[in-house]
Amino acid sequence: MIFKPRPEFREIARRLQEAPALKWRLFHINLDRVGFYYEETCEKSKCAAECLPVIEPWKSVLADCGIFLDWLIVVYGYHAEGKSREWLQIVLYHELRHIGIDGRRVEHSVEEFDDILQHCGLMWAAGREPLPDICRLKLEIE
Ligand SMILES: [Zn+2]
Repeated sequence: MIFKPRPEFREIARRLQEAPALKWRLFHINLDRVGFYYEETCEKSKCAAECLPVIEPWKSVLADCGIFLDWLIVVYGYHAEGKSREWLQIVLYHELRHIGIDGRRVEHSVEEFDDILQHCGLMWAAGREPLPDICRLKLEIE
C-alpha cells in the first residue's frame, strides 16, 4: 500500500467544520493537527477509511521531523475510487466524528454514528444511491 498526503481533504474537513448542522460536533478539532492520507494503489482494504490517534513514540518521532499530528485519517482508494464528492464528505465526516472532545477516540454503534445513519442511511458507504451534500443539511435541535 502507498499512502500519499491529501491536503485537499483538510479543506473538505474545514467546510464540514463550518457547516451549520455539523459544526457543533466538530468545533473542537484542530484540523492542522490531523494528517490526511490516501491509499492510492487501491489494494483491497477492509474499511473505506480510518481515524487513528498518533501516539507515542511516533508523536515525538514525527515532531522531530517537524510534523505535529494528533490524528491520522486515511482514505482507502479500494473503496473511494469512482465515488462521489458527497461520498467523500460523508467518509471524512465519519472519521472526524471519531475524534473526541477529550482527545480520545469516540466509538459508535455497530452500524454507524446516529446522525449519519439518520441523514445518509445504513448503506451510504456502498455509494450506489445519490447521497446528500452534508454541508447543506439544516441544523436540527435534538
Ligand atoms: Zn467508524
